[in-house]
Amino acid sequence: MDESPRRKVFAANWKMHKTAAEAREYIEDLCPLVAGSAAEIVVFPGALSVPAVAEAARGSNICVGLQNICWAGEGAYTGEISAAQAAAAGVQYVICGHSERRHIFDESGELVTRKARAAQSGGLIPLICVGETADERRLEETEDVLRSDIFSSLAALEPDGDIIIAYEPVWAIGTGQNATADDAEREIAFIRALVAEQWDADFAAEIRILYGGSVNPDNIGEFMAMPNIDGVLVGGASLEARKFAAIVNYDEQE
Ligand code: PEP
Repeated sequence: MDESPRRKVFAANWKMHKTAAEAREYIEDLCPLVAGSAAEIVVFPGALSVPAVAEAARGSNICVGLQNICWAGEGAYTGEISAAQAAAAGVQYVICGHSERRHIFDESGELVTRKARAAQSGGLIPLICVGETADERRLEETEDVLRSDIFSSLAALEPDGDIIIAYEPVWAIGTGQNATADDAEREIAFIRALVAEQWDADFAAEIRILYGGSVNPDNIGEFMAMPNIDGVLVGGASLEARKFAAIVNYDEQE
């Protein structure tokens, strides 16, 4: 039996996959498969598919997220999307600082912080990703990286709003090489302790912290059995509705 007071979160990050028509079809397939779940289920489509996903998910237990956001509220920022525009389209969550944004698009910790703050001020829930690269892991710098990412991200946020953190070791993303559940639990417990240090023990006990990195229907049970892991952020295995539903419904597997 799950004794955690924290509601579980299952998040699907589609990255740059699916057209709006494919997105709609996926949501129509997913809705009945996860209708019985008490968890928070969030799908992060590409920005152009947000309206299709929001419409197909209306009345269901599936929420819509955006994979990125502009730190500014409005103005001359060609190609960007503001929190207000996202919210008006039905978005409730925003991924901030995904490793692909940090490493492919050179987003700094400071930029991630500004984006998280913009999301929160715009009434959206920031899902902040943190995690070490393979080199940092080899050099045993994981906890230094987590400390610096968590402190810089949280410093600018209000602890009274909902914030979700995802521990996503960069070497585990899209590689098929997941962290062990024990390693993920240790780092997530460390992140929870950092939140207590930055804010307070009550907020640290409430904040949801997810694991992400090559999660699939076969390994989900190991992660969800850990007391500090409140859910998962899933990339590759979320691209098929049946596979993602099997992750959400992991506790129905025999
Ligand atoms: C991700 O993109 O956040 C992710 C965890 O990807 P994958 O599940 O494919 O490793």
